[in-house]
Amino acid sequence: MTRDRRDYYEKNKEHIQQMQKVYRETHKEQMKEYAEKHSERKNETARKRWEEHKDQNSERRKERITCSCGCVIRKDGIKRHEQSQKHQQPLQQTNQQNAL
Ligand SMILES: [Zn+2]
Repeated sequence: MTRDRRDYYEKNKEHIQQMQKVYRETHKEQMKEYAEKHSERKNETARKRWEEHKDQNSERRKERITCSCGCVIRKDGIKRHEQSQKHQQPLQQTNQQNAL
């Protein structure tokens, strides 16, 4: 927390705490529902499903592909790579060259 924020919190502590209390009270039902939805039973199901597909997933993770920018990347990382500077910079350069 920065000093500004801490100052703000100190000055408005009572107000903030009051707001949080009000929020908790008005959202009691939602919070209960949320807790139930994310209860252990759901986690257990998700874990089982993950176990079942674990091998499949790790096989898929190892797969590598060559991107249009020339980078060799993991197939499951393509989405993130496409948004990265590393991917976008060479493409921008090519576009600029083409424009000239
Ligand atoms: Zn790329």
